[in-house]
Amino acid sequence: MDPSPLFYQAGPALPEVSHARGVYLWDEAGREYLDGCSGAISCNLGHGRPDIRDAMLAQLDRVAFTYRTQFENAPAVALAKALVGLTHDQLQKVFFVSSGSEAVESALKLARQYFVASGEPERRRFVSLRPSYHGSTLGALGVTGYQPLEAPFTDITIGSLKVAGPDFYRHADADDTLHVERILAETRAAMEAADPDTIAAFILEPVGGASTGARMLGQAYLERIRALCDEFGCLLILDEVLTGVGRTGTWFAYQHYGVTPDLLATAKGLGAGYYPVGAVLARADIVEAVMGSGGFQHGHTYAGNPLACATALAVVEAIQREGVLSNVAARGCELEAGLEALKARFAWVGDVRGLGLLWGVELVADSDTKAPFPAEQNRFARITALAKEEGLLIYPRRTLDGVAGDHFLVTPPLTIDAADTAELLARLERAMV
Ligand code: PMP
Repeated sequence: MDPSPLFYQAGPALPEVSHARGVYLWDEAGREYLDGCSGAISCNLGHGRPDIRDAMLAQLDRVAFTYRTQFENAPAVALAKALVGLTHDQLQKVFFVSSGSEAVESALKLARQYFVASGEPERRRFVSLRPSYHGSTLGALGVTGYQPLEAPFTDITIGSLKVAGPDFYRHADADDTLHVERILAETRAAMEAADPDTIAAFILEPVGGASTGARMLGQAYLERIRALCDEFGCLLILDEVLTGVGRTGTWFAYQHYGVTPDLLATAKGLGAGYYPVGAVLARADIVEAVMGSGGFQHGHTYAGNPLACATALAVVEAIQREGVLSNVAARGCELEAGLEALKARFAWVGDVRGLGLLWGVELVADSDTKAPFPAEQNRFARITALAKEEGLLIYPRRTLDGVAGDHFLVTPPLTIDAADTAELLARLERAMV
């Protein structure tokens, strides 16, 4: 076979996909895979949905693409209204993009332009967590705390002040409250040392995603970060690229905590794998200040096009119509119980954590000391390969904060039923034996 001209990151040879339905995919050799991670936590409604296809075809028949400076389009307006409604009008403005990185990039630039427009141009720096992942474009990468991805580009990204978030599995403090206090004291000190008047925004995921294996930050921490942003006069950007659009059982993960951001970036599940679409949701006064100073100096060609927005609108309507959020809660409980049972059975399953249908499993060499497996064992790659042999797709990562172990995410489509949840757990158990 001729070598393919395609290239991405390094990795093993891949089976060629044939087709997919519901939570299952098949390769050209006829092997079946249960999609235990919704692709990259994006195919939130499962595969091959006739309702999404019909909505897309209807829009394709009308008009697929118009450019935002030439036409308004009804699906974009309707989707923006729907998204604002999903925040209960806490965020009133919407800016469309085509990916998670673009959403983060746009939120950073909007924050910066807001302060320029408001007469505080010295606010140009960002604070973010290490570890974290916010995207691959230079701005989003600049606030990302994930060493191998950062390394070749540190000289040419905006960079950010990187601080630690809570780690309730590994901390050595006397209890969780003390741990949060200590982390917050360190964060405050780092922000004070950096001069709070130069900080435009703090960006973080309300529930850790791929970079931390669904590490929870918790109510107290999030409330205090909100208060710290208010005290220091900077904005709070929540990266809900992964957690948004129902993944954790609420429309947006922040709604579990009642901690409202000033800007919110979302993507992945919004197009549900059917079309690339993302959005920044923003406080109206931020947008008004920027628009009043000549408009937002930023935009992408495909942003907010009719087909993208009609697809995302069909996704949002399907979630509403089918009561998908209640399914997330019910299946989430089953998944949690099943993963906890695996933790009880296998000593090398160190921690199981998550919310809704976003679950992380951290692997350790020793469950007493919580020591990670040596990096060269590539434990995360091994468990992923074993799961794939059992016909299960999971989403692996190494945390790379120098302390935590390998982990993988279990994030099936939000529409998975009880039988397939049981099947997912059975395949995972077989991969672990
Ligand atoms: N932020 C978070 C939290 C993500 O998980 C991702 C994707 N894994 C991104 C941003 C970047 O999204 P995209 O790959 O669509 O650019």
